[in-house]
Amino acid sequence: MEENLNDKLFNKKEVGWKNIDDREKEAIFSFSNEYMNFLNTSKTEREAVQTAKQIAESNGFRDLMTFDSLNPGDKVYFINREKSMYLTIIGTEKLENGIQIVGAHIDSPRLDLKPNPLYEDSGFAYFKTHYYGGIKKYQWTTIPLSIHGVIVKANGEKITINIGEDDNDPIFTISDLLPHLAQDQMEKKLKNGIDGEDLNVLLGSIPYDDEKASEKVKLNILNILNQKYNITEADFLSSELEIVPAFKARSLGFDASMVAAYGQDDKVCAYTSLAAMMSLSNVKTTAVCILSDKEEIGSMGNTGMESHMFDYFISELLNKTGENRLNLLDKVFCFSRILSADVDAGYDPIYASVSDKTNAAFLGRGVGLNKYTGARGKSGASDANAEFVAWIRNVLEKNNIQYQISELGKVDVGGGGTIAYILANKGVDVIDCGVPVLSMHAPYEVTSKYDIYSAYKTYKAFWEE
Ligand code: MN
Ligand code: MN
Repeated sequence: MEENLNDKLFNKKEVGWKNIDDREKEAIFSFSNEYMNFLNTSKTEREAVQTAKQIAESNGFRDLMTFDSLNPGDKVYFINREKSMYLTIIGTEKLENGIQIVGAHIDSPRLDLKPNPLYEDSGFAYFKTHYYGGIKKYQWTTIPLSIHGVIVKANGEKITINIGEDDNDPIFTISDLLPHLAQDQMEKKLKNGIDGEDLNVLLGSIPYDDEKASEKVKLNILNILNQKYNITEADFLSSELEIVPAFKARSLGFDASMVAAYGQDDKVCAYTSLAAMMSLSNVKTTAVCILSDKEEIGSMGNTGMESHMFDYFISELLNKTGENRLNLLDKVFCFSRILSADVDAGYDPIYASVSDKTNAAFLGRGVGLNKYTGARGKSGASDANAEFVAWIRNVLEKNNIQYQISELGKVDVGGGGTIAYILANKGVDVIDCGVPVLSMHAPYEVTSKYDIYSAYKTYKAFWEE
């Protein structure tokens, strides 16, 4: 019959929700609740590392530095400058036969404070910012914002800041022009509607009560900060303070089928891979989880994936398992596999024109794989080998995990990249594999709970293979 031939020959692309029972649905929803808790305590890379460390330690992971030697079954983590983290479970197989890595990133687009951020104008105090990552600037005005990060004083004392998340905290915001007077602004191109130099965060308006003082509102803010944190204006010079949306992660829709939250790129893959690693037992091939920093600005710097820190980490595993010998690190990479766990653009019917519908990732159809990324003729892409795509397909299919393989958008419409090429250049077999997202890089991003759970199952199955 023709219908059967369809079933047999077509690559069916189905909505995942159709094929699940009540038990699976409950698992999806309760997993997503844990994920939303993670998001609410992990808005920045430093906070994500702290939360991941707590989760890892409560699952028996210990700091690599506390181990003199490593044996199969040992659970280890390594934290790089509080901003990126590697976790591993040593397998029964030798590392030189290859390891299996899932690599996500925990930095997200945001506004960083400038080194000299504080100023006063016309009775208001502000922080100047320099945006981090690819943002649409107009999306960051007139929303509640919080401040996260550290101030390190010249004597080394470190002060951790987190203001605007607790319901009793004040929040901050960036103002925008009223429509009544926005005639010129509204004629501008969208990308020029809000200027980068105008992303100034409103902080306060009460002047310090001293007639002889200058810049009284700024002084009052500094006085508040001095009393609370014992800092002066110069201490901003050695700070990393990040302005992020103060929104909480929430279930989205009457059916609560989606998650709306800040920073899901790429904490959705970070959390699902972390949770998958926590669920592993009897590991055969050494499993490594990367939570990287600086992906959103090109993976440069010593907490980014381009750094030698990861090579150092793997070398330490080789040293402490007693396997190491000259040039062995190169061999390990050449025989290894990685899922570059990063989000994908979800098909948005409101903006359908940018996607090729037959090659787009849809929310609710399962984990999304990208054979390649790049732009304008795959430029800059790591293009996964067909043999490796087949290998991962087999893992997914035999574990009954629904997946989709897609492209970021139409040819020549745009493009993007992940950490995939960095590992591929070391010789690792790589494919991008993550969760489709709507409104990527916006202050409030949308994912499907079905895909979140599908990603968790994918990373788990990959490591168990
Ligand atoms: Mn990403
Ligand atoms: Mn991104």
